[in-house]
Amino acid sequence: MSVVKDLGLKENFTGRVPLVSGEIGDDFTYYFARSEQVPSAVGVGVLVNPDNTIKASGGFLIQVLPGAEDALIRQVEERLKTIPPISRLIESGQTPDDLLVTLFGDADFKILEKMPVRFSCTCSKEKLKRAIAGLGEAEIKAMIDEDHGAEAQCHFCRKYYHFSEEDLKNCFFQ
Ligand SMILES: [Zn+2]
Repeated sequence: MSVVKDLGLKENFTGRVPLVSGEIGDDFTYYFARSEQVPSAVGVGVLVNPDNTIKASGGFLIQVLPGAEDALIRQVEERLKTIPPISRLIESGQTPDDLLVTLFGDADFKILEKMPVRFSCTCSKEKLKRAIAGLGEAEIKAMIDEDHGAEAQCHFCRKYYHFSEEDLKNCFFQ
């Protein structure tokens, strides 16, 4: 499993671990422990309707901060073994706040911030144009002469961008 992160630096950060179970939650747990060295618990689930629409889906990621008490970690671990699948909890109407109570029980917790979750990407034609420019003059010239344009796909969201001959010329005369 490869996890690629765009941290806004010149190069993307890539972490790679072998698949340990094929269950995405377990594989992510292993990834965090192995590649990022953060003890974590990941739970994800989805319930699908007979017509293939999504009935309920969601997940949680719990990470242990430095200095966490062993007793508290054990308490959370024991609790995680007893809770129903996360998709069932969401189907039953549990909100993220309810899930915290389910996951942590009477352990003392404080909500610091709430953020909406959405699928989004920071890619743009401009960004991909810079990537194409990085291929070098000879490569770009070949795209112009042989293909009269180019298609580029964002590594993250898989969106396609089309570059005309004119766009490609701009890449390299900049
Ligand atoms: Zn994208």
